[in-house]
Amino acid sequence: MVTRTPLIAGNWKMNLDHLDAIRVVQKLAWTLQDAKHDTKDAEVAVFPPFTDLRSVQSLVAAERFDLAYGGQDVSEHDSGAYTGEISPVFLARLDCQYVLVGHSERRQIHGETDELIGRKSAAALRHGVTPVICIGETAEDLEQHGASAVPVQQIRTILADLPAGDVVVAYEPVWAIGSGQAATAEQAQEVCAAIRAAIADVRGAEAAESTRILYGGSVKSANIAGFMRQPDVDGALVGGASLDPVEFAAISRFTH
Ligand code: PEP
Repeated sequence: MVTRTPLIAGNWKMNLDHLDAIRVVQKLAWTLQDAKHDTKDAEVAVFPPFTDLRSVQSLVAAERFDLAYGGQDVSEHDSGAYTGEISPVFLARLDCQYVLVGHSERRQIHGETDELIGRKSAAALRHGVTPVICIGETAEDLEQHGASAVPVQQIRTILADLPAGDVVVAYEPVWAIGSGQAATAEQAQEVCAAIRAAIADVRGAEAAESTRILYGGSVKSANIAGFMRQPDVDGALVGGASLDPVEFAAISRFTH
């Protein structure tokens, strides 16, 4: 049986500048070091704005913090005339282990499609950066098709042309993001199991067993333990609550 190391990932969105980032990462790393490890360890990652990444890299390297980090988006291209875009090569050079792709805000505000998200994931993989592929249904999708249909279709499309390689999938029901209304642990389990079955279908049982699937949407220290008890939930993608390093450390240790 494959053991999947849980991943707790903090998406800062467009919050915290590079000076704030130093303060927050220091506080987070020190709190994590002091925290009692009541349960199995999770890997912890933060996703700051691009302009913070160099500061985070320097601090993590200098202090040898046990903390992963990554960008919130990536270009599908390596270089060229793409004003405003960030190359996967640049992320790799900053030692980013991960990058978010297809966050619902990028889908909704910037019109990103599953096909583009697949190409961005491929670009990250080409340079040794693990894509954290975000999928999830809107409230309208939920009402019309149930919870699993849309995320399952999204992951099938994204994986269709994606070369083999380690990916993380983040199931984030859009209606739960930033709303304070998290899915129940049982709802998250049901959809994450359906996503794992779809991965098995596309990439084989072994790949499905080893792929980490996170739940995201209004996760906080008060509800993380319930999600982590589910067999197909391997961690969380946390937005708002990741801006407070003490709260995020508590989430990362599944303590309240
Ligand atoms: C997110 O933005 O990915 C997210 C899950 O946000 P929140 O935790 O604030 O719902």
